[in-house]
Amino acid sequence: LLELRGVTVRFGPRTALDTVDLQVAEHEIVCLLGPSGSGKSTLLRAVAGLQTVDAGRVLLGGADQAGVPVHRRGVGLMFQDHQLFPQRDVGGNVAFGLRMRGADHGEQARRTDELLRLVGLPGAQKRSVAALSGGEQQRVALARALAPEPRLLMLDEPLGQLDRGLRERLVVELRGLFGRLGTTVLAVTHDQGEAFALADRVVVMRDGRIAQAGTPLEVWQRPASPFVARFLGFEN
Ligand code: ATP
Ligand code: MG
Repeated sequence: LLELRGVTVRFGPRTALDTVDLQVAEHEIVCLLGPSGSGKSTLLRAVAGLQTVDAGRVLLGGADQAGVPVHRRGVGLMFQDHQLFPQRDVGGNVAFGLRMRGADHGEQARRTDELLRLVGLPGAQKRSVAALSGGEQQRVALARALAPEPRLLMLDEPLGQLDRGLRERLVVELRGLFGRLGTTVLAVTHDQGEAFALADRVVVMRDGRIAQAGTPLEVWQRPASPFVARFLGFEN
């Protein structure tokens, strides 16, 4: 479904992505891991069309995305700085993505109810977004990103502000949901446990390059380099 070929992004003298090659198959869940500044968010932004690529190509469904605007790429996004619409209530935020897809009022209401239950905010439709905690806002942003059932869902630290118990529950539920919907997912996380529980494949990044890609088990059992081993917390 998604293919990156030699994708390079530079910010002045800094190379945030350095000739990255990556393929994500339909229905696959891929988690990006790596230290802060290794290029994870930049990779998602490049795929979404929010970041200009200096070299290389991004293909979705085999089609080169050069010049294709964000809203025509069919990707769902949830970023670290999840911007909710402050003037809309919780329900309005979640329903936004459904309206975009042309869902009627009945379907909007039903799906919003379902999604808010999923993220642990049942019945929160009428609450004001401004009055929610950071973690609650994050959950609303997640529900909004899931709503249109995009062909590729990209999540940047979707559960970052949530407590461990809620994260663990949501990871299990999300994994089930993605499986049922057949959603292809590219997610960034700092939490290895989360990556290993959610992902079919993990991609470890370092300095704008892919240090290793493989199934969680492969990466865990056979780290490709001392860097990956250290990153995973092994002593040497
Ligand atoms: P984190 O885990 O902290 O979110 P990350 O892996 O997502 O890190 P990126 O945000 O992709 O890292 O950044 C990669 C590199 O590119 C960093 O060195 C960062 O400072 C730089 N960078 C990212 N965005 C910009 C920008 N808009 N202008 C200049 N430099 C940028
Ligand atoms: Mg980031």
